[in-house]
Amino acid sequence: MVKFLDLQKVNGSFEPELSNAVQQVIASGWYLRGKSTAIFEEHFAAYCHRATCIGVANGLDALTLALMARKLQEGWGDDAEVIVPAMTFVATAQAVVRAGLRPVFVDVDDNALLDSRLLEQAITIKTRAIIPVHLYGQRVDMSRIAEIAAAHQLFILEDAAQAHGIVGKGPGHALAFSFYPGKNLGALGDAGAVVTDDLELAKTIRAMANYGSQTKYFHEMEGCNSRIDEVQSAILDVKLKRLDTDNKRRCAIAALYDDAFRRIAERVNGFRILALSSGSVYHIYPVFCTERDVLQKVLAQKGIETLIHYPIPLHQQPCLSRFVPASQSFPQAERIAKTALSLPISPVMSDDDVLQVISAIQQHYML
Ligand SMILES: *Cc1c(COP(=O)(O)O)cnc(C)c1O
Repeated sequence: MVKFLDLQKVNGSFEPELSNAVQQVIASGWYLRGKSTAIFEEHFAAYCHRATCIGVANGLDALTLALMARKLQEGWGDDAEVIVPAMTFVATAQAVVRAGLRPVFVDVDDNALLDSRLLEQAITIKTRAIIPVHLYGQRVDMSRIAEIAAAHQLFILEDAAQAHGIVGKGPGHALAFSFYPGKNLGALGDAGAVVTDDLELAKTIRAMANYGSQTKYFHEMEGCNSRIDEVQSAILDVKLKRLDTDNKRRCAIAALYDDAFRRIAERVNGFRILALSSGSVYHIYPVFCTERDVLQKVLAQKGIETLIHYPIPLHQQPCLSRFVPASQSFPQAERIAKTALSLPISPVMSDDDVLQVISAIQQHYML
């Protein structure tokens, strides 16, 4: 049996520090907007090489609040457009809609990353922002995107929910993180953060996340309640210390996978792996094959859990269909949705687990 992600084992490997950290928060009598959050925010900002970090309730809120804050600062109208890739988790686009903006979808490349060759033609006079997504933990090559964004004065919000440890410094004006339990840096519940060098933007996000208030009981803008709590902050601060080590283990597993699957890709038509150009922390390790559903069943029968990221591209999601012009097509996003299969990967997987997955796939292809 190889689990897709054994969170019991992952979090167990941080004991007793994790329980001690929680115990300290319980004993402190202070559970929101306190010391643990301030410390984690400071550590995470430094880890990302950014000036400041605002802890929020989840990754969706991190994306939404960053957009809402910029919208307020710049006075964008409700018809302002935000470019998002057609292949990502739905949160990327739902954040745009929640912020009262319009998502515009752009197809992805072979690696399921926003295709910068298609970017320029998606930009209109209403375009205000672009959200590159570091999908699967890959680092998006930001150089071309930054050039185009600068030429059109677009706000760059990086969706870094899958890329803790590989992104930070760069042309993005703000980065949104999720600490959903399964992420490379995962809480034991919901949590998220925005990191940025823009202190004015940070101030607005912080106020918006706190009922639009900077001074208690004085509410200068509309807001919501989106806070990271003291328990999650303390937990994340413990886990952050091992993030680089854990990411290295993910990379070592991916190297074993790459080695084996490159050979399969050479011999089997319609089987391929990612061609990484600028690195990854392997939040997800996908393979792409034309008979994906068959392979998934075969692996399940051998006790190997796999998932699909993501089975439906955004332009085919009913909740987003009103933003998709009939004339547009997204062949690459659709191809990835039909062929991607995510294999087990996590810092607590043993080499033996990895070899089990490899040999099951080799057997399937009779190699
Ligand atoms: C997980 C994820 C989010 C949303 O994070 P939540 O904390 O679940 O709200 C956003 N974007 C991407 C790419 C994600 O993987």
